[in-house]
Amino acid sequence: THFGFESVPAAEKQSRVGAVFSSVASSYDTMNDLMSLYTHRLWKDHFVRSLNPGIHTSLFPSPNQPTSQTILDIAGGTGDIAFRLLSHATTVNNDHSSRVIVSDINPAMLAEGKKRSLQTEWASSERLSWVEANAEDLHMIDSNSIDLYTVAFGIRNFTDKMAALREAYRVLKPGGVFACLEFSKVHNPILNGAYKRWSFGAIPLIGQLVAGDRESYQYLVESIERFPSQREFAGMVEEAGFLLPGGMEEEGGWEDLMGGIAAVHRGIKP
Ligand code: SAM
Repeated sequence: THFGFESVPAAEKQSRVGAVFSSVASSYDTMNDLMSLYTHRLWKDHFVRSLNPGIHTSLFPSPNQPTSQTILDIAGGTGDIAFRLLSHATTVNNDHSSRVIVSDINPAMLAEGKKRSLQTEWASSERLSWVEANAEDLHMIDSNSIDLYTVAFGIRNFTDKMAALREAYRVLKPGGVFACLEFSKVHNPILNGAYKRWSFGAIPLIGQLVAGDRESYQYLVESIERFPSQREFAGMVEEAGFLLPGGMEEEGGWEDLMGGIAAVHRGIKP
């Protein structure tokens, strides 16, 4: 049941990734909870809180102060990050105007996200919009138009990650922030051993039992394995033109979560 994704042409890889997410869209939440033992919710909460979306009230307002933020959540399918971004902006920063554009390549994931938005206060709000797009080609988004670009557990599925990073750089305003939450490499060998047994052993099995789909979950585990290390990925973010922000240097420009099971990378467009 090995997909051998690296040896297939880009277009075919994209359609296989498409099939994986179409097949998991409806069982997506349950599976995320089971596979990550609920930690994905904590990581997403932390990710959004640390970005502090929304207009920040300044003691010394300047004429150039932004009026509202335009946030782009890439590979945002189910809206998990978008709802958190809007809710943080509103409740923490008392910002009632910043908007989030959710973008995903997969219509089934977007449909699931729209359905879920009906249970939120942003169901028919102008602050939330949905765009079907490949992260590697965001021609429908203007250059220099985005304040914050987020991508959570998405970029490892992209065929051409550098192309996606270059598009992120293009659409962001100068001073805009690129932020990525993704599975990464575990540093401690003992934790890594336990984690590998869990991901290669239990996750495909849970996929089979709960979602009736072993192959899609086998693919997810393999895509985590193939994703570059924290250091390599930070290098790619820099190569796309971003500056790595201060405060993250102690770990080389990123933040590890749970020993590296996941990591947050950020870049600022100069
Ligand atoms: N961000 C959401 C979250 O954290 O719950 C969804 C993450 S889900 C694991 C990965 C998403 O990436 C899927 O919705 C999939 O359709 C999307 N995706 C895969 N390849 C993509 C691409 N090239 N461009 C945009 N989205 C893509």
